Amino acid sequence: MSDKPVKIINGLKIDPIIFTHKFVKTCDVCICSGECCYYGVYTDLKEHEQIMKMKDRIIQSMDDSQTKDIDKWFEAPQKDEDFDSGVAVGTEVYNGKCVFLDRQGYCTLQKIAMEDGELRWKYKPLYCILFPLVIFEGAITVDDDHLNRMHYCNKVENQNSTIFECCKNELKHLFGEKGFKELDQYRKEYLKNNPIEN
Ligand code: SF4
Ligand code: SF4
Repeated sequence: MSDKPVKIINGLKIDPIIFTHKFVKTCDVCICSGECCYYGVYTDLKEHEQIMKMKDRIIQSMDDSQTKDIDKWFEAPQKDEDFDSGVAVGTEVYNGKCVFLDRQGYCTLQKIAMEDGELRWKYKPLYCILFPLVIFEGAITVDDDHLNRMHYCNKVENQNSTIFECCKNELKHLFGEKGFKELDQYRKEYLKNNPIEN
């Protein structure tokens, strides 16, 4: 975050880098194989509990590159104030990818929601929905550390858009329609006042 005045929406600080940071126009797992899921993710304790309640349904849609042993799905919980419940639970890596990633590069949690006619993000952890955005120390910003590990969406030659443009739906999911409108208004003002970064 810069030392300029901080805009806050729905209790989250807005790091204006999300307006200018370059990114691919759309994600395409046929190209990237879902590489951002190779390292696992931190879920909120409540998300972890919901996932465990659905374990039988999840197992039904897993392929043989994934473990159906539920004791191998999650790490031990740890305190983390960036999560609503104050506790984060990491998913384990199995076969070089998050336990919930199938061999085709699709998230089983998203897959079952779609198979069952639910909203695609119903069971997906917020941090997975948001990437390459991240909530860090109370601010919505860019997850540079993770993004720098990517071989497709982090390549300059593939970055023909911005994170803001690519992640409008994700930002609406996070802030709601009203919060998103406020964010978009702030973006316009920010870009007007900082044309060199546009
Ligand atoms: S964020 Fe990058 S690695 Fe992840 S699905 Fe999108 S393009 Fe692929
Ligand atoms: S839970 Fe799903 S989206 Fe999140 S890292 Fe694992 S496979 Fe990827």
